[in-house]
Amino acid sequence: QVRVRFAPSPTGPLHIGGVRTALFNYLFAKKNNGVFFLRIEDTDQNRFVPDAEEYIMEALEWLGIAPDETIGKNEKFGPYRQSERKDLYQQYAAELINSGNAYYAFDTAEALDAARKLEEEQGKTFIYNHTNREKLDTSLVISADETAKRIADGEHYVIRFKTPVNETLHLHDIIRGDVKFETNLLDDKVLFKSDGMPTYHLANIVDDHLMETSHVIRGEEWLPSMPLHVLLYRAFGWEAPEFAHLPLIMKPNGKGKLSKRDGDIGGFPVFPLKWNDSRGFREDGYFPEALLNMLVMLGWNEGLGIEKEIYSLEELIKAFSLEHVTRSGGKFNPDKAKWFNQQYLHVKNNHEIAEKFNVILSEKGYNKSIVFVEKIVTLTKDRAVFISDLWELSNYIFEKPKSFDEKAMEKNWKENTSFLMTNLLTIINGIENFISSEIEIKVKDWINEEGLGFGQIMPPFRISLVGEMKGIDLFELSELIGKQETTHRILKAIN
Ligand code: GLU
Repeated sequence: QVRVRFAPSPTGPLHIGGVRTALFNYLFAKKNNGVFFLRIEDTDQNRFVPDAEEYIMEALEWLGIAPDETIGKNEKFGPYRQSERKDLYQQYAAELINSGNAYYAFDTAEALDAARKLEEEQGKTFIYNHTNREKLDTSLVISADETAKRIADGEHYVIRFKTPVNETLHLHDIIRGDVKFETNLLDDKVLFKSDGMPTYHLANIVDDHLMETSHVIRGEEWLPSMPLHVLLYRAFGWEAPEFAHLPLIMKPNGKGKLSKRDGDIGGFPVFPLKWNDSRGFREDGYFPEALLNMLVMLGWNEGLGIEKEIYSLEELIKAFSLEHVTRSGGKFNPDKAKWFNQQYLHVKNNHEIAEKFNVILSEKGYNKSIVFVEKIVTLTKDRAVFISDLWELSNYIFEKPKSFDEKAMEKNWKENTSFLMTNLLTIINGIENFISSEIEIKVKDWINEEGLGFGQIMPPFRISLVGEMKGIDLFELSELIGKQETTHRILKAIN
């Protein structure tokens, strides 16, 4: 069975790189009728951020890609929080020591610094591995009794992996293809510390094994850890999962990875953590579906020559495959991100949009019926990217013009315009059934009968209602604001 995981460290809010990793895992699981689980990798206490765990769960919920198993949900292989699995890691670290695949190292920070300096003076770079380990303060050089005694005495130690020497590892990555690593170039990574905490590497491997992970799908920054991980599986005598390393999401200019520091161009999180008021995609008004669709297209395509860009989550599940994930990273493009949102806004149900827009309107003190707001949505949403844009596109419906645009007046308000507008008022007042189609017929008939030009009437009519030469269809606008308000606005413009 396919079982894949998203395994973030709770060090802060989720950024789009993390979301993309979660999404690809989710899609792969669903495509293969598998399980997508969330494991919290919180063994590094120094980087722990309160509330980040809840945040991650909330973000996945909001995005619509919640895990099938996690803390408090179908805990088949729980606990799903690594800090609650400490005893397990201790036991597995001991197993590696016993099998000769790991050793205790007692070096102090000062001793390591000194060793590093010594090598550098000889023009070499220090690597903690087979080139050094016999010269350092480790259980490889002292007796088992002494090792036991020093540990019992409370001396500070770490457990390091004893990387095999002189091996070329030929590994396979589903996305990157065949990759080769020389074990001589790897360092003996720390697996366990005397504070009782494992490092990422040990905890990750133990849990992926115990939680029956079939595929490890994660960011490319973890590719250098792949040989160590494969060696660890081997040392335990376990079958390794398959690996797929996703390309990075690049900055808009293509120069480097999009990072948290790229605050105003997409480096912001899904939404801010409670105590932190930074910007978020949710706050900017992105629909989760649009965000996911945009992200998936940053590193995947259905196939050569397929131009389709808009995919629902259902469609993605059907179409997704790791083989079609690209090797090079896509550039995050803020305009394209907006474009995706706009596409989703256009096809979204107007009633649903109206309900959300109504919240913005009531905050501004306007309490209108949903039918009324829905009409506004229908008339304005073509030009909006976000729901919040609707206010900018429709505020003149709620608020009388505060002033009249000078340029527009100069161009369109001629000597006889006030007189014509007074006549228009008479026509308007005579309309019984004040709906746009009626208004349109009556006004147009009048223009034709009087032998007037549309250019003489429509622009000043618009300026009267809106204050400038913008806005929705005038007859629709008249209906929306009503006969009385239409009359008021025209009168105000005349005087
Ligand atoms: N805890 C790691 C992270 O923060 C997990 C990497 C992995 O998927 O193996 O990304």
